[in-house]
Amino acid sequence: MTKARYFEIGLVSLELVAVLIATGIAVYVSVWVGVLLLVPLLLSLVALVCNFDAWIVRRISTPDNPLILSLCASGFVGVHRRVLRLLPSSPRCRFCLVPFGGVGKAFGIRPSGTNPNYCRSCFEGLPTKTHELDVGVLFADLRGFTSWSETHGSDAVADLVSRFYATANRVLTADDAFVDFIGDQVMAIYVVDMPSLREKTADVMLAAARRLVDAVRQGGQPLPVGVGMHIGRAQVGSLATGVSKNFTAIGDVVNTASRLQNAAGANEILVSEKIYGALSGEKPHADRTTLELKGKAEQQTAFILRQLRQPGE
Ligand SMILES: [Zn+2]
Repeated sequence: MTKARYFEIGLVSLELVAVLIATGIAVYVSVWVGVLLLVPLLLSLVALVCNFDAWIVRRISTPDNPLILSLCASGFVGVHRRVLRLLPSSPRCRFCLVPFGGVGKAFGIRPSGTNPNYCRSCFEGLPTKTHELDVGVLFADLRGFTSWSETHGSDAVADLVSRFYATANRVLTADDAFVDFIGDQVMAIYVVDMPSLREKTADVMLAAARRLVDAVRQGGQPLPVGVGMHIGRAQVGSLATGVSKNFTAIGDVVNTASRLQNAAGANEILVSEKIYGALSGEKPHADRTTLELKGKAEQQTAFILRQLRQPGE
């Protein structure tokens, strides 16, 4: 049995003990006292998971077998993200979504001192190098941003980008996507090994892209969004250790997704042939096109999802 499995069993056992204690109190004292105790007990466990187990994570995570990747494949990360995203409030760890504000702050959950985008446990478990994995990569940005920002003040530009980040983060983290922000672009990495994704990865990504386009359109943003997506093998993990240790992806899949996004028009989703082919059920209506992508020798086949366009666009 792997160390990651022992880690999971340990944490799940602690959570079960907390629930049993609270249930016992509920039976012998009163339902309401039990319920009231259940909440802080569970939240204490969250605090334990996200702060005080960092030293355990550091010991069992190895360069060749980083704990985070094992926990992604087992479904542990996905299950905890679904619970932690419900707790208020942002900012959050980019990996496990535990909140640093609101409830998280009250329980002493703090970002890693080395990379404040992650909680201390996730930072310790992050890969120290890259590993080859199947990933889906989604890029989104605001179309026409450069010319818009030339005619608006820096305050308005910063406000627009931060609202776009918040919307994209909310929409994309509803699934098991790891979201990163690069300039005015948003990049989401879907680790195909995660049980919530696997053969459904392309479907999940397309649904997320549609929700993102709709959310930006309905959110009163002055600029529309364009999305590009591709799927395949990439190097995933940290490109550098130490201060800049993070969770990212690099490789042809990432470059292609980024270039598809650059080629996408307003409110358009450009998906690679591989993504389109991997969609289950009846294929959505899309226009097939060939694109000469910058830096690519061969023309790329892509599919443009146009049904999102409003009449007259
Ligand atoms: Zn975390």
